[in-house]
Amino acid sequence: MDSCLTVEREIEKVLSKFGGLHDHGVDTLDTYITTLENLKKELNEASPDSEVQVTQSMVLNQTGHRILEAAGRMGQEHKDLHSTVSKVGKMIDRNFVSEFSAVFTESSFENEQAQELLNEIVCEHFLRQGKLEIAEALNKEANLNLDPMQMEPFLELHRILGALKRRTLQPALSWTAANRDKLEMQGSCLEFKLHRLQFIELVSQGPESQSQILQYARNFARFADRHSRDIQVLMGSLLYIRQGIENSPYAFLLDPINWEEICDVFTRDACALMGMSVESPLSVSIRAGCKALPPLLNIRQVMQQRQVSGVWTSKDELPVEIDLGAEHRYHSIFACPILRQQSTEHNPPVRLICGHVISRDALHKLASGNKVKCPYCPVEQNPDDAKVVVF
Ligand SMILES: [Zn+2]
Repeated sequence: MDSCLTVEREIEKVLSKFGGLHDHGVDTLDTYITTLENLKKELNEASPDSEVQVTQSMVLNQTGHRILEAAGRMGQEHKDLHSTVSKVGKMIDRNFVSEFSAVFTESSFENEQAQELLNEIVCEHFLRQGKLEIAEALNKEANLNLDPMQMEPFLELHRILGALKRRTLQPALSWTAANRDKLEMQGSCLEFKLHRLQFIELVSQGPESQSQILQYARNFARFADRHSRDIQVLMGSLLYIRQGIENSPYAFLLDPINWEEICDVFTRDACALMGMSVESPLSVSIRAGCKALPPLLNIRQVMQQRQVSGVWTSKDELPVEIDLGAEHRYHSIFACPILRQQSTEHNPPVRLICGHVISRDALHKLASGNKVKCPYCPVEQNPDDAKVVVF
C-alpha cells in the first residue's frame, strides 16, 4: 500500500507540473496571438501605398524576438517535464517487485494439456462476462474447439442478466419457467422474487392497471405456502394504489436494491443449476494470487538470506499458511491427529472400521502386517479395510 502511495505522489507531481505548464503555455500563446493580430490590424488599416513606419517595424521586430524566446523557454520547460516523468518509472521500479520467477514453478504450464486448460479457463472467463467476440477469437486461435453448445448457457445467462439490469423481467421469467423443477429442487426463491418485482412494477403504474394487477396476482397461487407473508404485504400495497405506493408505508417495495438483489439471486441460482461456481475461477485465482504474492516473496527472500532454500521443495504445498479470508475457504482440511500434518492428495484421511479417522501415512506406520490397532479405541482391524475419506 505504501508503495502505491509513493508512486501516486510522484504521479501527482507530474500532473500538477503538466497542468502548470499547459496553463502557462496557453496564456503565453494567447498574449502573443493578440499582439500579432493587433499589429496585423494596424498594418492593414494603413493605406497600401504608405511605407511601414519606423516604430511599427521596431515593434514587429521586438515581438518576433520575444516570441522566439518564449518558444525556446516553452521547449525547455517541456524537456524538464521528461525528467519528472522518468522519475515515476524509477519510483515504480524501486517500490514494486517485478521479478517473480522465485515463486512460481516454471513447469506448471509447460505441457500441452495444462496450456489448453489454462486457455479454456481464460475463454470461460470471457464467456461469463459476455465478451463473446474475445472468447470466440481465443477459441479459434488457441484451437480450443469449444463446442458452441458449451458456450450457449453462458450467453443465455448473460442475455438474461443484461435484461434484468435494464429492468426487463420477461427473459428471466421464461427461463425460470423452463427450469422450474430443477430450481425448486434447489430450494430457489428466484421465480417468486421475479413475479414479485413484476407485480410491484404493475402496482407502481397506478389504478389504471388495476385489472391487470389482479390478473397477475394469480401467479402467486403456487407460492402461497412458502411466501404467504410476502404475498400479504404485496396485496396490502394495493390499498394505496390510488394515492401511489411511493407515498405509502409500502414505499420500501420500490427500493432499487430489489433490482440489485434479483441480479445476484439470478446469477447464484443459475450458476448452481448449471453446476458452475458463481465467480469466475480465473478472477478468484488471480485475486488469491495477488494476496499470496507479497508474503511468498518475503519468505523467499528470508530463505535466500539464511540459505535454507531447500525448505520449499514441495510443489503442491506452500512453505507458509496464507490466509485468504473466509470467502476463499472452500474445503475443510483434515489434520492427522497422529502425525499432526495436514492431509494431502498423496496422504489422504482414511476411516477405520471403528469410525476413527487418521491419515494414510499414520495408518501405514501403525500397521504391522495385516493388523492394526486403532490408536483411539483398541479395536484391532485389517489396514486394508480402512476407506479413504473425501471431504
Ligand atoms: Zn477407533
